[in-house]
Amino acid sequence: MGRINKEKKREYDKEYRLKNKEKIKEGGKQYYLKNKERITIRVAKWQEENKEARKEYLRQYYLINKEIIKKAANKNRLARPVIDRWAAQTIRTHRTSGCVVNFSKERLIEIAIKNDCCQLCGIKLNFFKSDHSHHVDDVTLDRMNNEKILNENNVLILCWLCNMTKGIRTMEQFYNYCKMIAKKDFSVYEKS
Ligand SMILES: [Zn+2]
Repeated sequence: MGRINKEKKREYDKEYRLKNKEKIKEGGKQYYLKNKERITIRVAKWQEENKEARKEYLRQYYLINKEIIKKAANKNRLARPVIDRWAAQTIRTHRTSGCVVNFSKERLIEIAIKNDCCQLCGIKLNFFKSDHSHHVDDVTLDRMNNEKILNENNVLILCWLCNMTKGIRTMEQFYNYCKMIAKKDFSVYEKS
């Protein structure tokens, strides 16, 4: 009797999920939006606590599904525009490192296209990276003051070299750094 009831319930639940797929999805999305910061912190904490187990799980998963993953990755790589890939990857890496990103991939693409020159040095940015090495003009996203919560008004679109030069400094620290350099006497390097 108990077993049959359990099966019935499982069947019913399955049907319910199928019928209300969109509703459930929307509910989940709303929940995530409301609890974004809390969830990000919890996930980061969980990942930190289960680092080794997770690594092993991902390794096993990759080994078992190697061919499928490779095929899918290749298909994705070829089908998606480069800037789309850059934006998705940028958001993903920031989230993985524990940041909350308060703009969509589409919005980031818009921001990047609007600032097609580095916001510090003005060099024309390269959105068409073809290999894995870094180029000075590669487009990058900079967290102005190393905030953990990223909004449109606390990020800059910089070339890779400027981003590296600024490093972990806040904008204020970077400005003072530049002023300090400017005061030094490097006239020997000045071209006439
Ligand atoms: Zn630059």
